[in-house]
Amino acid sequence: MTAAGRFAPSPSGELHVGNLRTAILAWLFARSTGRAFLLRVEDLDRARAGAEEEQLRDLAAIGVSWDGAVVRQTDREPLYATAIERLTGAGLSYECFCTRREIQEAPSAPHAPQGAYPGTCRNLGDAERAAKRAVRPAALRLRAEVAQATVLDVLHGSFTGVVDDFVLRRNDGVTAYNLAVVVDDAAQGVDQVVRGDDLLPSTPRQAYLASLLHIPVPEYAHVPLVLNADGARLAKRDGAVTLADLAAAGVPVDRVRDALLASLGLPAGALHQALTFFDPAVLPREPWVWAGVGGRDA
Ligand code: GLU
Repeated sequence: MTAAGRFAPSPSGELHVGNLRTAILAWLFARSTGRAFLLRVEDLDRARAGAEEEQLRDLAAIGVSWDGAVVRQTDREPLYATAIERLTGAGLSYECFCTRREIQEAPSAPHAPQGAYPGTCRNLGDAERAAKRAVRPAALRLRAEVAQATVLDVLHGSFTGVVDDFVLRRNDGVTAYNLAVVVDDAAQGVDQVVRGDDLLPSTPRQAYLASLLHIPVPEYAHVPLVLNADGARLAKRDGAVTLADLAAAGVPVDRVRDALLASLGLPAGALHQALTFFDPAVLPREPWVWAGVGGRDA
């Protein structure tokens, strides 16, 4: 299988300039290293009708090209089920009946890192489990045998983070993101993962899961997010931040692309021209603040 990078948006709405900047970076990382570039729609959760089409249209408009057919996670449940069966067969999963609230209110286990699942259902007896099953459907959690793991990131170096008994399958039967992303990247031959650095804290969990499934751990590059003028993560409510809104304000797509390239220290023009100049070693490490691009009156 060819080495590959990827972009994996959740089709919850239109992409904003922060998402597009991450997509451009993922494309530059992949193409500059001779990798294929794949697009995966992460539609297990939060899908809005029509959003996928809008996202693909905007990626193409900005010059992000991809190889092969777009993959959708909702078409891949059997693959996730097989991975979950392997973990369960190896004694590495257990049923959990906790509500979000019960988890929040549970006293955390001694020395457990903040935010880690407190382990309430880890050692239930058969009778207790049967009683709980009668009340509520179970989620399935990983029975982690470590409390932390270290990953290597192109931009962050060595990063150590929490590994807890995270959810593999939610109690509504939907596969959890951390399981799906690991299984998909491996199945698609993705050996380079470039994404927003909000996902860096989840990465040790994913790398640990990959090791349990005997899957190679990809190269990671977690790139800085785009912020609004107040220093908060950019969101739709921050004004004209999608290509459609910007076009309506008189800003053509090429101007948006050039502004994003400029924010990365790269010259204006088609993305493939930027490839020659792309060097991860000199990429800005700080978040970029979106201050808009002048419209037709600017
Ligand atoms: N679907 C995730 C998101 O849009 C990205 C997951 C990933 O790149 O691993 O935030």
